[in-house]
Amino acid sequence: QIEERKNCFIGYPHRNDLYINPELFDLLHYHINNIWGPFAHDSTYKMNSREFECNTLQYRAEKYHLDESQMDGYVTTGWTECNQQWLWLAKKNYPQGILYCSQDTHYSVFKAADMMNIETCIIVAQDTGEIDYNDFVKKLSENKDKPAIINLTIGTTVKWASDNLDKILEILKSMNKEDHHIHIDAALSWGFLPFIESDTKPDIWFHKDIKSIGISWHKFIWCPLSCGIFLTRKEYTASQSEYIPYLNSTNSGISWSRSGLAPIFLRDTIQHYGDEWFRQQIKSCLDTTQYLKDKLKEIWQYTLVNNDSITVVFQKPQDDIVHKRSLACDGNLAHAVLMQHVTKDMIDLFVQDIANQKVL
Ligand SMILES: *Cc1c(COP(=O)(O)O)cnc(C)c1O
Repeated sequence: QIEERKNCFIGYPHRNDLYINPELFDLLHYHINNIWGPFAHDSTYKMNSREFECNTLQYRAEKYHLDESQMDGYVTTGWTECNQQWLWLAKKNYPQGILYCSQDTHYSVFKAADMMNIETCIIVAQDTGEIDYNDFVKKLSENKDKPAIINLTIGTTVKWASDNLDKILEILKSMNKEDHHIHIDAALSWGFLPFIESDTKPDIWFHKDIKSIGISWHKFIWCPLSCGIFLTRKEYTASQSEYIPYLNSTNSGISWSRSGLAPIFLRDTIQHYGDEWFRQQIKSCLDTTQYLKDKLKEIWQYTLVNNDSITVVFQKPQDDIVHKRSLACDGNLAHAVLMQHVTKDMIDLFVQDIANQKVL
């Protein structure tokens, strides 16, 4: 079933066609567990892949403008865990803080804020999916005396819109608001932003006044295990780090046991494919995105593709097409994400299905 479904899979940002180094299969005989943080001091727990984890986090460090000695973070089970981690960190540093995020923010942010009892202020989103800056100013002014915990998304889940970090920073400055934690959700876009050649691409790294970034590694870069990366600056994590005598080390993450296999697979993917390959892949994804957009425009009025995006948003087709193609839907909209495995032939067949569908 999985093999069959793979050939129609265009609705979610996951790919299914990558080479795995057979030498890694032997590792399945062992339980490799990264209980403690990769940057914590050595623990008495030795069956780990700590070096691979540090190495993975440091990959592209110079592109994030994050000095290696200043870096903290770890390999998570996915972006959703990053999300709990950063909100927990923000709450430790700003117990009275209010969370601001647009209505198009990923669902797990609202859930995590609820779990941690963080007051949440939802900001209206524009039709493109980008946060509405006027609404942000209005709501921030109403709560000016409390710290601001701000989630910005670069590539929103449904429309791949990007909230503008510079505009948000300008607003905070104009209001003399210095007690804030800005987190960047770059779950999917992170994988290719450093390599994209475009005048519109967002500049969202640590040389600006942000405190954390979360990404899903199992999306664009790929890994057979669900995983992500949480990155922050060391100076912010002191409130979270706890010495555990049982381990003889510190643990500052949400999870206790963590997959030691994931960082090894991650390291292997980077080593095997390399930056030039990623650059080529990005070009090809942007090309198929344009191809689908043009094809759909011939038959439908509404299609939306935001800047530097591989997500095409369109009117929701009938249910059998939605299920056959694993389309993600939101109200009367659906989208396709043009990941590396999506070919022009797959697009042609999909557009043909839509052209033949009954008028709803
Ligand atoms: C996929 C995605 C998430 C969730 O990430 P997981 O790794 O699946 O937990 C959050 N935000 C955005 C914008 C996403 O695209």
